[in-house]
Amino acid sequence: MIRTQPHAGGWLEVVCGPMFCGKSEELIRRLRRAEIAGQRALIVKPLIDDRYDVGHVVSHAGTKMRAVTAQSSNEVRRLAQGYDAVGIDEVQFFDAGIVDAVDALVAGGARVIAAGLAQDFRGLPFGAMPTLLCVAEFVDKLEAVCHRCGGPATMTQRLVDGQPAPFAGETIQVGALDSYEARCRSCFQPGEDALGAAVASAHGRRA
Ligand SMILES: [Zn+2]
Repeated sequence: MIRTQPHAGGWLEVVCGPMFCGKSEELIRRLRRAEIAGQRALIVKPLIDDRYDVGHVVSHAGTKMRAVTAQSSNEVRRLAQGYDAVGIDEVQFFDAGIVDAVDALVAGGARVIAAGLAQDFRGLPFGAMPTLLCVAEFVDKLEAVCHRCGGPATMTQRLVDGQPAPFAGETIQVGALDSYEARCRSCFQPGEDALGAAVASAHGRRA
């Protein structure tokens, strides 16, 4: 991606999309390019994401890059001091303070690349992602391939025993291939709410 970049100061790039769209792979690609240019590059990820390898960011395709874990947005800010390019993986899992943390890093001259899920398994905006998307200089929304129809997938289907997960289920469950699928909007199956009605989205529509 060739872009005219600011001459001075930092900026924010957001890479988002559903699971299996290649977010981590893209994050790693950008950080590697920065390293090749002689920049000091770092990837930070939330402690919660312990799939595969604690000391690395590993994409589903197998590419990996060294990463440090942080428990809070304050820790992200502290760990990232002095780096030219800072990648934040699974940014949706950090507390709301991540917006200020990113702001401080950018103000300090860093190029920050935040990658994560735009929507949770209900199809609702995930964590601080809406705000980050709003304030970013550059946004890339990647799509996966729908596991059902092969179309462009923008949503993450969570399955529990093969059925759509209940709407009220835990949002945070990083992980296993067998319980998540990338789906397009028409193949996405909303979970049921507490009353047993299918919930289409956060916007009050019911299927
Ligand atoms: Zn589909």
